[in-house]
Order: sequence, then structure tokens, then C-alpha cells
Amino acid sequence: MGNHFSNCIFCKIVAGWHPARMVYEDDLVVAFWDAKPVAPVHILIVPREHIPTLNDIPVENVILSHIGQAAAIIAGELGVAQAGYRFFINVNQGGGQVVFHLHAHLVSRSNPGTDNAPDV
Ligand code: AMP
Ligand code: ZN
Repeated sequence: MGNHFSNCIFCKIVAGWHPARMVYEDDLVVAFWDAKPVAPVHILIVPREHIPTLNDIPVENVILSHIGQAAAIIAGELGVAQAGYRFFINVNQGGGQVVFHLHAHLVSRSNPGTDNAPDV
């Protein structure tokens, strides 16, 4: 499944042309570790389709709901769902967006597996 966005780094990751540390994939999204993590858990959830920003999601497109559901699954798999995490999207330059292929950040200050860690 190709696309015409050969200059987009996240399209390259989706296509398998650029390496990434994948944690989750389904029909609509892929998720991988951020290359410059700001916390012990920092995952990017990326639609397979090239949508530049949150502003560009077509009406009735369910991708944002799906990204949220994927975040909850990934947080559970990484063992930080109960400990907690932030889930956010930067929009355009003023919002801190650097890569113009829609993506959500899943960031937890807790270490992976914290949910199951024994009390000390
Ligand atoms: P944003 O500021 O919301 O556009 O976030 C872009 C994020 O993508 C930053 O946190 C970068 O560290 C991350 N990033 C950029 N290139 C890559 C890459 N090739 N693999 C993984 N993460 C990346
Ligand atoms: Zn793209």
C-alpha cells in the first residue's frame, strides 16, 4: 500500500522504509517509541493514512477515536495504564508540531511494567 508522501518520515515508517521501534500495529495505525523520549514511556501513535494535522481530519473520519483506543491498549500492554500517562496532540507550529503527519503522544513518567510492580 503506497502513498505519494515520500518526504514524510512517518509515511516512511508506516511503509517500513525507515526503522522504528514498533509497539503496536493495526489496520488504521502504527505506534512506535519516540526517537527522543521525554519520559520512561514515550510512544507515538500514527495513522497509516497521511493526514497532516488534527485540523485536516475529514468529517466523520473515526481515526481520532481509534488513536485513543490504541493508546489505552498500548498503555495497558506497557503496564502504565493504572499508573497513568499523558495523551496529547501538537497542532501546527504554534502548538509545537514538528512532524506534519498526524500523531498522538503517549507519555508516562512511570516505568514500563509499573502497574504490576509489587508494593515496597
Ligand atoms: P511533534 O512535535 O508533536 O511533531 O512530535 C514529533 C515527535 O517525533 C518528536 O517527539 C520526535 O522526537 C519524534 N520523531 C521524529 N522523527 C522520529 C523518528 N524517525 N522515529 C521516532 N520518533 C521520531
Ligand atoms: Zn506522512
